[in-house]
Amino acid sequence: MTNKIRIAVQKSGRLSEASLALIKECGIDFGGTGTGRLKAEASNFPAEILFLRDDDIPGYVADGVADIGIVGENVAIEKSPNTNIVYRLGFSKCRLSLAIPKGEIYTNLTDFEGKDIATSYPKLLQNYLKENNVSAKIHEISGSVEIAPSIGLAYGICDIVSSGSTLLSNGLKEVEVVFRSEAVMISADNLPAEKQKILEKLLFRIRAVQSAQKNKYILLNAPNSQIDEIVQILPGIKSPTILPLAVDGWSSLHSVINEDDFWDIIENLKNAGAEGILVIPIEKMIG
Ligand code: ATP
Ligand code: ZN
Repeated sequence: MTNKIRIAVQKSGRLSEASLALIKECGIDFGGTGTGRLKAEASNFPAEILFLRDDDIPGYVADGVADIGIVGENVAIEKSPNTNIVYRLGFSKCRLSLAIPKGEIYTNLTDFEGKDIATSYPKLLQNYLKENNVSAKIHEISGSVEIAPSIGLAYGICDIVSSGSTLLSNGLKEVEVVFRSEAVMISADNLPAEKQKILEKLLFRIRAVQSAQKNKYILLNAPNSQIDEIVQILPGIKSPTILPLAVDGWSSLHSVINEDDFWDIIENLKNAGAEGILVIPIEKMIG
């Protein structure tokens, strides 16, 4: 049997769509995403995809059932001692926070001293409390954590917060951020050399896809007298390409710009005399 890498992704949840989209953008074709599938084999890359509950992914990776997995960093750290984060994927950003009933007065973390806190993340919470020299009583519950205070199970909770509206509708307020998370790729400690090679191939593609997503290709026309000024504005990978236009005294400039500075750059370019600006998405960006 030829060597393959087994990639565990969340079957259905907040990570699923972005995880599968990333794998597809890496040019890995594993057929449609029919519901109920547990396993899919890629037709053009030595990979097999396992669809699992996110909580189970670190354990399966640690046991070698899967070679790598995509999970929230919160789950990666909470659930498994024997996996490594090999790449930070940047999507599904969220935070794990402490919250207490709205009506309670909050001063600082020492307010939690000796109190009961309900959470699905006992390890992350314990690490945080320990770092801050607070000791509280942690109650591990697996779901509906936010109702714990209202039913008298705990004084506060520690849970994933997205908008804060779930907290609010349960009469709670966020008071401390315990952990900031994003999707990460994890692998076992001791991948065999051949699988390690496939992983590196995959990471190379992920980097190319993600840097392409963060950048745009830009083309513009400018009078030759303005080229120096415009070149100063365009960061580019190395330096912009400059080509003469059929019209005398004008050139076309091509470069790559980062999404974050995009609108500022466009404005500065216009002010510097650029015309006919075209901005084009980049599919892959290598090196
Ligand atoms: P499963 O059925 O697989 O156990 P789940 O209900 O435990 O799923 P999801 O709610 O799908 O998990 O969340 C999966 C991960 O997505 C979380 O562990 C966290 O890393 C991240 N996440 C959670 N909430 C948000 C959010 N509001 N925004 C972005 N990412 C989030
Ligand atoms: Zn889960």
